[in-house]
Amino acid sequence: MCFIDLDNFKNINDSYGHSMGDQVLIEVGKRLFGLVREDDTLARIGGDEFVLVIENMKNDTHHAEVLNDVLSAFEVPFIVEDKSFILTASIGVSCFPEHGTSIEELCKHADTAMYQAKESGKNNIKFYSKSMSQDVITRLVMENDLKGAIQQAQFELYYQPQVCLKTKKLTGLEALIRWNHPTKGLIEPNAFIGLTEELRMIITIGNWVIGQACQDLKRLQETCNFQGKMAINVSVLQLEQSHFIDAIKETLAKYQINANKIELEITESVVISNPKYTITLLNKLRDIGFAIALDDFGTGYSSLSDLKQLPVSKLKIDKSFVDDLPDGENDKVITQPIISLSNAMNMEALAEGIETQGQMDFLIQNGCGLGQGYLFSKPLPLKHLIDWLNTQA
Ligand SMILES: [Mg+2]
Repeated sequence: MCFIDLDNFKNINDSYGHSMGDQVLIEVGKRLFGLVREDDTLARIGGDEFVLVIENMKNDTHHAEVLNDVLSAFEVPFIVEDKSFILTASIGVSCFPEHGTSIEELCKHADTAMYQAKESGKNNIKFYSKSMSQDVITRLVMENDLKGAIQQAQFELYYQPQVCLKTKKLTGLEALIRWNHPTKGLIEPNAFIGLTEELRMIITIGNWVIGQACQDLKRLQETCNFQGKMAINVSVLQLEQSHFIDAIKETLAKYQINANKIELEITESVVISNPKYTITLLNKLRDIGFAIALDDFGTGYSSLSDLKQLPVSKLKIDKSFVDDLPDGENDKVITQPIISLSNAMNMEALAEGIETQGQMDFLIQNGCGLGQGYLFSKPLPLKHLIDWLNTQA
């Protein structure tokens, strides 16, 4: 029993309307139907969820093959009315009789597995395991804990220095959130930001981040004479708020911060989900004075034609492409063109996750201007950052 759920399908309905969304679903249905055998059953059970029942499996590898075919089926864009849609799916699988002997049980467990697939980054397949039920409980507990976290001041911002690779001079700071959990200790954002997005709590948390980062920036300007930019990550859900611009302007006014000292980091998904809206909004932000950086560049699928229209002044090269430099062939063939691209488009390139001299040398030789990573400094809590800034002066 396989639960197939399309990732971020809502974006298509939101951006292009439901009738376009329905057309895309029909195309997805057709493509999936082309993959299954006569004995198998494929159904759409609601929204963007499909169920595939694979019967009479010949052997253990059979279902893996079918499921891989399903995922690969999404590698080719879906075309509706000359528009091309790139979709991915998350698949949860339960098997009879190991994971249940009733339909209810098999469905419930396939659903749990599907959520696990979403949790672990989407676009993948998860088989049900008993520990997953435990994970579901953990998730519920975390959800509950998160609700009190802002009021109880459990979030804290750490700041990671960004430097000019040639001169090693500080150019900016990226504000990174940490959760000081009362019993679990310090939790890194990748363990909870996804959940806060699903629960739409990211809007409140994101606003808190903007306020706190501005307050801290003011302090750094006054006490350490910090002249660089503060980079703040913003989620697509924040940008979709109609009052986003007014709210951020208000925050800047409150702390007497100039917009040209703030860099908003957005991810490619923001652009993909709604390019027209994003381009208009980002242009407004740029006109006010904000700098815009495209985060995790290379991990999404933003088209170069969209990129050309964006008022982006910086491309951030994801740590995953820096890890194997300078020897890893794959990372070399990815980072080199990203750097050339950014230079050609008059954008700055910033490599994330630089940890070794070798990585840095490679990046400098290939024209990358900026970097951040442990080689320069870890993300630091404000107090330690102030000490660090004082040692640099
Ligand atoms: Mg970032």
